[in-house]
Amino acid sequence: MMRMKRILTVISITAVLFLYSGLASASEGAGISPDEALSKLVDGNKRFVEGKQVQKDIGNTRRTELTKGQQPFAVILSCSDSRVPPEHIFDQGLGDIFVVRVAGNVADPIELGSVEYAAEHLGSPLILVLGHQMCGAVKATVAGGKPEGNIGSIVKKIEPAVKKARAQNKDKDKVLDAAILENTKNTVAALTQKSAIIKHLVEEKKVKIAAGVYNMSTGKVELVEASSSDKAEGSHESSHEHAHAEHSHAGH
Ligand SMILES: [Zn+2]
Repeated sequence: MMRMKRILTVISITAVLFLYSGLASASEGAGISPDEALSKLVDGNKRFVEGKQVQKDIGNTRRTELTKGQQPFAVILSCSDSRVPPEHIFDQGLGDIFVVRVAGNVADPIELGSVEYAAEHLGSPLILVLGHQMCGAVKATVAGGKPEGNIGSIVKKIEPAVKKARAQNKDKDKVLDAAILENTKNTVAALTQKSAIIKHLVEEKKVKIAAGVYNMSTGKVELVEASSSDKAEGSHESSHEHAHAEHSHAGH
């Protein structure tokens, strides 16, 4: 009888420990490194490109679980374009990514504040700035003229990228794509130049900033070099200049 009791006690302690470990892993923030977070996005994008999306739990259980809090593993600052929804492009579900969307993926104080909140308070280890092919906001800036209403403030943010793209490309057909890339890089630079919080997190290596450009026809996100601060010059060993959105760790 005593023996039976002891066995039962062992079983119940084991069950409690098992349950506790499950709860603990769900509450320790994203709990992954910036590189692991980037790999998750790269893998998700690969599934999207190949049409092999995994079945996401967006049911009642997951929704209820998330009422306790969120630990998104990445922040994505992308364009509002209806053809570029990050959750689909990276094949992620509820509570996985913290998305800031604004036409032209620019970064003003409101966008910066949103990114700061996720990085500082939710502990997201990765910030990805996502530009995309055929971006209407960049296109409008390249076209010039006087934009209507408040659109002017977006155009104004994109103008430096267009200026640089024009200076570097004699071929007019190449200006739009070059400007899209420059604009994405400018937003990356703004994250650390205009936010002391993000700069600090990057310097402490708690957060990494990556950048990508979404290819509308293939569905692929091409990672581009993202030098996140002036101090990052000369330390590009781990950059992903034009690396395809596939595992390319072997090359490093
Ligand atoms: Zn766009």
